[in-house]
Amino acid sequence: AHFLGRIKAHDGALNSFITVTDERALKQADAADARLARGDAQLLTGIPLAQKDIFCTLGVKTSCASKMLDSFISPYDATIVQKLHLDAGMVMLGKCNMDEFAMGSSNETSWYGAVKNPWDTARVPGGSSGGSVAAVAAGLAPIATATDTGGSIRQPAALCGLTGIKPTYGRVSRYGMIAFASSLDQAGVVARSAEDAAHVLQAMSGFDPLDSTSVERPVDDLVGGLNDSIKGLKIGLPKEYFAEGLAPSSREKIEAAIKTLEGLGAIISEISLPNSPLSVPTYYVVAPAEASSNLARFDGVRYGHRAEGVKTLEQLYKKSRGEGFGAEVQRRIMIGTYVLSHGYYDAYYLQAQKVRKLIYEDFRRAFDSVDLVLGPTATDVAFPLGSKTDDPVAMYLNDIYTIAANLAGIPAMSLNCGFVDGPSTQLGTGPSTQLGTGLPVGLQLMGNFFSEAKLLNVAHQFQ
Ligand code: GLN
Repeated sequence: AHFLGRIKAHDGALNSFITVTDERALKQADAADARLARGDAQLLTGIPLAQKDIFCTLGVKTSCASKMLDSFISPYDATIVQKLHLDAGMVMLGKCNMDEFAMGSSNETSWYGAVKNPWDTARVPGGSSGGSVAAVAAGLAPIATATDTGGSIRQPAALCGLTGIKPTYGRVSRYGMIAFASSLDQAGVVARSAEDAAHVLQAMSGFDPLDSTSVERPVDDLVGGLNDSIKGLKIGLPKEYFAEGLAPSSREKIEAAIKTLEGLGAIISEISLPNSPLSVPTYYVVAPAEASSNLARFDGVRYGHRAEGVKTLEQLYKKSRGEGFGAEVQRRIMIGTYVLSHGYYDAYYLQAQKVRKLIYEDFRRAFDSVDLVLGPTATDVAFPLGSKTDDPVAMYLNDIYTIAANLAGIPAMSLNCGFVDGPSTQLGTGPSTQLGTGLPVGLQLMGNFFSEAKLLNVAHQFQ
């Protein structure tokens, strides 16, 4: 009831929820109380959580922030929904706003309108998981799920001062998560601390026979090692991530954080990921290609928006898709169809797959000499709403530091490492609505496959 009250009071200013499931939340809270009374509660039982609206939730609208799915009520639960709510007993507060079909870096492509950054409501929260981070940063939910295809957990976590983790590809089931780019998509969490993130990620993880890319490997203990010392841990700083393009004020905070980690016993060295400048162009071939194929299912016939007043099947497809998809989604479908088409496939898609391999090789070599890689999450703090909406390339460059981890399939996280000058934020009135002063800066940690426990350990020691 506390969080539902806060959503009612403050979400008008933020737009972080598409659907608030208040009745269901109160029922789930009662069920959690009953579990506690029976003695079969788990640690997370009764803890509220917000779901990104990309996850199918039985009987609840699942829109992916698209007009195409505005009327879609999911007939089943995603595996992570099953795990978090039915198994662990968490309480679902509602479904969070996001960029349409998770395509964007500012949460401005949502059909339900932009989400505002709680630290400064004239700025973007980042994207595509902008609703999830705004809700958690403003205290409308203690924790939220999110997804990351090219940075959509880490970049918004950075811009809203949170801890967000994208696990190894295949660690968390994608069943029931609306597909964007299937070889890159991973579910994860955004939280106020590494400790919170560890508990929820642990509960979401695991092999799922319903997802053919899910990895059959036991889930590591993500919580038990949080307090381990990081003395002797080798951290590499890729020189390409500290080159031109990183705002000096963000660089200063990241360098201070590196000193703190050194103080905790970490051994810092410079490394090189020579192919990192290729990650944005590679991603913007691979991701739209997969998206154009995944989004072919929205044809106005089986589910989703269906256009009126058409005579032929082809008209039905064209008009339903033309009306149902927003401009950015249409742009991606066109790029994707182009790079996959006969005569261009070899020049673009195949080439991009080869470069993807080189990007992975960069990391493989790096992990021969260091345990983790550290860099910025974003080039700068949150930017003003509307400032990049007319320039897709400027928007795509937001993902310059985050995309490589998705192409390589490795786990990566973002955590707050300080604030630069900005407004003093007051969301409504009362002590619990005072956020603080300034705009948050994020620090990114990347690790080898299945090193989630190590990443969370370092983040917890830092925090
Ligand atoms: N910003 C990137 C894009 O627009 C990443 C999105 C994501 O990770 N879902 O594609």
